[in-house]
Amino acid sequence: MNQEWDIAIQRTINNNVPRVSKILKEHQYILELAKKLREAKLKILSNLEEYIEQTLESVKRTGGNAYFVKDPSEARELVGKIVGKGKIVVFGKSMVAYELGIRKYLAQLGNEVWETDLGEFLIQLADEPPSHIIAPAIHMTKERVAKLLKEKLGFDVSENSTHEELVQKVREFLRNKFLSANVGITGANAVAADVGSIVLVENEGNIRMSTVVPPVHIAIVGVEKIVPTLEDALNEALVQAAYAGLYPPTYINVTSGPSSTGDIEMKRVSPAHGPKEFHLILVDNGRIKASKDEILREALLCIRCGRCHLHCPVYRVLDGMWGDAPYTGPMGAMWSYIIYGDGKPATYCTHSGNCKEVCPMKINIPKVLEYIKYLENKKQS
Ligand code: SF4
Repeated sequence: MNQEWDIAIQRTINNNVPRVSKILKEHQYILELAKKLREAKLKILSNLEEYIEQTLESVKRTGGNAYFVKDPSEARELVGKIVGKGKIVVFGKSMVAYELGIRKYLAQLGNEVWETDLGEFLIQLADEPPSHIIAPAIHMTKERVAKLLKEKLGFDVSENSTHEELVQKVREFLRNKFLSANVGITGANAVAADVGSIVLVENEGNIRMSTVVPPVHIAIVGVEKIVPTLEDALNEALVQAAYAGLYPPTYINVTSGPSSTGDIEMKRVSPAHGPKEFHLILVDNGRIKASKDEILREALLCIRCGRCHLHCPVYRVLDGMWGDAPYTGPMGAMWSYIIYGDGKPATYCTHSGNCKEVCPMKINIPKVLEYIKYLENKKQS
């Protein structure tokens, strides 16, 4: 095992695991919300295409632009068309954007692109794949982060710098990027089919800045993030935050179309102070096919809390590099198959079953992985 990884993951487990248990003990309504959320998401997945249509219509009603794309090349072409060239683009953490290769594509077009979630920012600087879905630089110790910031950006930091000093340096650097950005790109924790709002939960404030400061906001979202109502979407934000160990979350952002005002004679006028344009891009890339399979459908219930990772012995011994980026850990072994057709990560599962016990959506991850192994064997025989 890589020594740096061993130190970093142990520190993370010590910080996170007891905290999540405490949150769930103190706020027991979260368990009920999680149950309700599972039901709401299953309802969507049994009729995904219809809900995609409903969502697209709802977003257009709010004055936003809404699109459905089948695959990465269609997605990249569309985003490239909206963004253009020579722009400053800030990313507010989107795993789907990573899956589709959007950041690198926009950079190739001649745009200046910055990840603004601290973990994603470190990954971008190091040009490494993420090792965890909510803390992508989980494999880096504080000392390594200091070295990286000094080498890549010339920051005046050392291995003795505190966590606070390192974060402050990045804050100073990125604030200017937010203020001069032309486009903000985010994902979404959930999209409400009934009203076309997207919900994003976060703590850093980078998502709020990316969705509000630049004149154009693009949300790139997998279709499995659709939920029936705005109430379900807000529930998802609460459940995700609690199981991620960050409760209450610092920010929950709701975006419904471009900015608007009704302050002059109550006539609704858009834009106001925030973005002039809002674009929602719903992405398939294997999700619809998976939704039609009774067992694979379970994987689409994942709310990206990252809890299964920290309870999995395989993720730990594989130094966090289990699965195809950005999908790592037990959830990543399922998603590597759904998105990239890669069944190999599933074969590493030892079926300890811890993941299933701690998953808020009660996804039977070992069963899904066993099924993927079966599908792979069938393909080869
Ligand atoms: S599979 Fe479950 S525990 Fe793992 S990230 Fe998804 S919702 Fe969280």
